Amino acid sequence: MIVWEAHACLPLHPRADFGPIDRLHAAGCNYVSINIGMDMNPLSQVMSVIGGFRTTIAAHPDRYVLASHVEDIERAAEEGKLALGFDLEGAMPLLEQPAMVALYRDLGVRQMHFAYNRNNSVAGGCHDEVQGLTPLGRKMVAAVNEAGVLMDCSHTGRRSSLDIMEASVKPVIFSHSNPLALVEHGRNVTDEQIRACAATGGVICVSGVSGFLGTRTPGADDVARHAAYIAEKVGVEHVGVGLDISFHEEGIDDTPPGDFDATYWWPKSAGYDRAIQRMTYTPIDTWSVLAPALERAGMTVAEAALVMGGNMARVARVVWG
Ligand SMILES: [Zn+2]
Repeated sequence: MIVWEAHACLPLHPRADFGPIDRLHAAGCNYVSINIGMDMNPLSQVMSVIGGFRTTIAAHPDRYVLASHVEDIERAAEEGKLALGFDLEGAMPLLEQPAMVALYRDLGVRQMHFAYNRNNSVAGGCHDEVQGLTPLGRKMVAAVNEAGVLMDCSHTGRRSSLDIMEASVKPVIFSHSNPLALVEHGRNVTDEQIRACAATGGVICVSGVSGFLGTRTPGADDVARHAAYIAEKVGVEHVGVGLDISFHEEGIDDTPPGDFDATYWWPKSAGYDRAIQRMTYTPIDTWSVLAPALERAGMTVAEAALVMGGNMARVARVVWG
């Protein structure tokens, strides 16, 4: 069984400590998708983060494997190592060039979405005016399909996400998104989006963020409750987990350079109050107690294993090749 963490955030700094990633490994994860940048981060920052993270991974071949295929994850698990991949949150670092998708893939990016909360020239964000996938966006979906990268729709506006799922010829995922029917928040996804994702053969991964789970002290049972809702709607084979824990490190400042405005990216009107800092996360140990929580929510042992990683591994086999 592969345990798959679909989204985790280290400080966006080349010298970020991988200690939290080691703790995810200790809690049972076999694969972790690490964020390397969002629409708010300039290319100079995204590239230095990729360079730094690749250097850390390469310096510890006894501990980490940068995975290209699901087989790499299986081998890493057998050898007691953790497999890693990168994910990009937003299309702005693609510089409006579909060819950049394959370049990011070659640097280790295994999944990407197109808009971080706000609209851009490729797609609409979930906290902005309604905007569909643009003509450039259609080319970008084709490039993501062609490059063998997981097409992600978290943070994307509803209209654009439905357009992307219709345009994609490969399964599409939501790497960290929760059902709107359980918690009213702009970041959460409608039953229509959940059904469209399942229709692509994809997976909706439940996030562990307090505001999206609808609890101040989120834990494994909250994640399981949201997972059970999606399973009930579209089937357990379309449910995954991306806890989206954002790790901060003393002495490391990863604020984007220039006149960065957090309230633009995390608008108060969308319920962020003082931006994302007010959010809390499920503890890392959620992973070690998630299987029994999923069983308490009504799943069998085999179904819990699908949710914890089997489903994402199935989709990645199709998409990564
Ligand atoms: Zn995110």
